[in-house]
Amino acid sequence: MGMLKSSLAFLVLALAFFLCFIMSTGDGSYDYFQFVQQWPPTNCRVRIKRPCSNPRPLQYFTIHGLWPSNYSNPTKPSNCNGSQFDGRKVSPQLRAKLKRSWPDVESGNDTRFWEGEWNKHGRCSEQTLNQMQYFERSQNMWRSYNITEILRNASIVPHPTQTWTYSDIVSPIKKATKRTPLLRCKQDKKTQLLHEVVFCYEYNALKQIDCNRTAGCQNQPAISFQ
Ligand code: 5GP
Repeated sequence: MGMLKSSLAFLVLALAFFLCFIMSTGDGSYDYFQFVQQWPPTNCRVRIKRPCSNPRPLQYFTIHGLWPSNYSNPTKPSNCNGSQFDGRKVSPQLRAKLKRSWPDVESGNDTRFWEGEWNKHGRCSEQTLNQMQYFERSQNMWRSYNITEILRNASIVPHPTQTWTYSDIVSPIKKATKRTPLLRCKQDKKTQLLHEVVFCYEYNALKQIDCNRTAGCQNQPAISFQ
């Protein structure tokens, strides 16, 4: 009897582990979205080996991607099964808008950048947003708040030497959006450069929510915006 009980307990435990494993690796399982906008001059500043194709990077925040994410590991899921990118599903009207909001600021191949983002991230939430909706929704998110303008109105403008604290930069964005964004930085020697501002959205990508400060810019050294 005791033997049967312990075998049964083992079986239940094994099944639970198996289910946990399936749920953590399974495609299309995510909790929320990260909508990531980047500051192109920072991309180009840290690309030393292959400089950006455009010698004068854009001076406004552009889209990096819309990433379905898990609270336990915000870099997952990625590279899920699902429909491969199909350029014909981006209408000429939307394409024209995305060329401004979502350019490839590194090598200038916009379509290939969109393809990479859809295939790596978009496909993981295809049950919520199909390819057309994914790009349309991202465009609408980009239009909903102009980060460049929000920061400019708070006198946070590119400057070669001035620095800001994490909360100096978050505060005006939080005031404008009523939600907490996440800041991501790139390290360039001893300088911490502002690189990305992340907005978080709930599962359906409709309602903006507060982001958790799980990763991103450090408190020290102070943040440069150049
Ligand atoms: P993720 O794959 O997580 O969406 O983003 C990481 C990759 O996106 C990095 O390899 C980064 O270089 C790339 N990335 C970010 N911005 C751009 C861009 O404007 N153009 C291209 N081609 N890649 C980009």
